[in-house]
Amino acid sequence: MNREQYLQEKLNRLDHFNAIRRRESCQVCYRKKTNCLCHVLKPFTPYCELSLLMHPKEGKKQKIGTGRMTHAILKNSHLFIDVNMDENQAFKKLLSDPHRHHVLLYPSRNPEYIDQADIPPSWTKPLLSQKKILTFHILDATWPCAKKMMRESKLLQSLPTVSFKESYRSRFVIKHQPHEACLSTIETAFICYEGLKKMGLEKDLKNEHHNLNQALDALVQFQLDCENDPHLPSNRGSKPKTKKNLSHSRIRPKKNRLFYWDTEKSEVGHNHKYKNTDQ
Ligand SMILES: [Zn+2]
Repeated sequence: MNREQYLQEKLNRLDHFNAIRRRESCQVCYRKKTNCLCHVLKPFTPYCELSLLMHPKEGKKQKIGTGRMTHAILKNSHLFIDVNMDENQAFKKLLSDPHRHHVLLYPSRNPEYIDQADIPPSWTKPLLSQKKILTFHILDATWPCAKKMMRESKLLQSLPTVSFKESYRSRFVIKHQPHEACLSTIETAFICYEGLKKMGLEKDLKNEHHNLNQALDALVQFQLDCENDPHLPSNRGSKPKTKKNLSHSRIRPKKNRLFYWDTEKSEVGHNHKYKNTDQ
């Protein structure tokens, strides 16, 4: 077998492997079909639009990631998977839409807040006078990956940032977070819509955004059930069979997981490189 034949063979096997994976996983929530949680996802269409900027690593290891679930619930949300968003044509197209006002959820020393009742001053003209649609972008990545995405993309660096003023505790109890200020994507989305509703920018939203929290609760319950019942197939792969192993949790701490930044508590919030609102 020469080199070309070998590479072709390898490619064919990869295609075959990916086809099996596609067959076995739900194409909406990206969980295994046996653990699909689509029945708990109640989609709705808010006025302001969420855009998820997902690092490819996050896109692949969707075992308990909540980004896909968030995307499935928010009917008009956008999902882009790339390391360097400057090279993503679909993202660039969305960004160039003159009918939108874009903001990025990212720590900043002088941020405007998306979780307060007051509309940030810089939003008044584009949203209230020019009637643009607020499109807020969330980085769905671990902190090192999110930093890399920011470092590589001039477009992301140029976006005005928003942040949370309050501290929030994660409801995602099963997931080991480096500190309590870290939130999952689905919780982050909920807090944003709660804030936008307080501002009066989501007039038609009744309590549909609570669907996000309900989906997270179902996911947490699923993980707890798996922990308690070793015979239940989990979404995390194979389970330990021996009694000795069962006494230890299979869930390892996730390092540097960061969806949210409390600029008071989080050292990350103080040290990050990009401070768009300062500039
Ligand atoms: Zn599903």
